[in-house]
Amino acid sequence: MSEDITRKTEYVARKLLKISTKWKEQNVTPESLKSKYPQLTTAIELLNSCFMTPYEQKMYIERARAYVASQKAADAGEQSAKNTADWKTALEEIERISQPTDQPFDRWQRMLTDPSYRQQIYDVADNLRNVNRPGFWWRFGNSEPLVGWLLQRGKCVYCDTDLIEAGYIRNGLAGTDHLLPKKTYPHLKRCSLNMLPACNACNCIKRHMDPSKSA
Ligand SMILES: [Zn+2]
Repeated sequence: MSEDITRKTEYVARKLLKISTKWKEQNVTPESLKSKYPQLTTAIELLNSCFMTPYEQKMYIERARAYVASQKAADAGEQSAKNTADWKTALEEIERISQPTDQPFDRWQRMLTDPSYRQQIYDVADNLRNVNRPGFWWRFGNSEPLVGWLLQRGKCVYCDTDLIEAGYIRNGLAGTDHLLPKKTYPHLKRCSLNMLPACNACNCIKRHMDPSKSA
């Protein structure tokens, strides 16, 4: 298990670096980020800062066990099937209004530069929230995190698990990660560009780590 944890931790660190670098390369960052936090950390620094405490290891193992249990339960009830269908419709809508070759980061960038595209994305999120109001998609609180989820196609940004399809979100095993921690960056607390889907295992490794700072 400990070897698994090490591998997982390194994987999360690499993903964080990739995201940070992408943000930098493509100028995806909102103005507030660009001016205040220009330096992004190196892979080594990330790896160093990404070690797990015994508490984190315990959390990780617990979450992994919970996931296995939830898979066994395999609840494919009518309502969850409808939620998945509504989700797929929303994803198709995002595909329709985006360029076919777009990756999540391209979409983020376009959201920053094209107000009408941004509005369209928000409309999709609002529609999804309203299909069974107040229902499953209201768990996200408001449209901002849902936009983040839709742009990432509901996949954990660190380990690529499909959190909708695999029932993570339904079973309370996933949440919205603030890439730049909301504690340090309260003004980005509700910024959809800073809100990413993450499984609890990855989020628990990442915790309050700030990828824009050195370790
Ligand atoms: Zn994950």
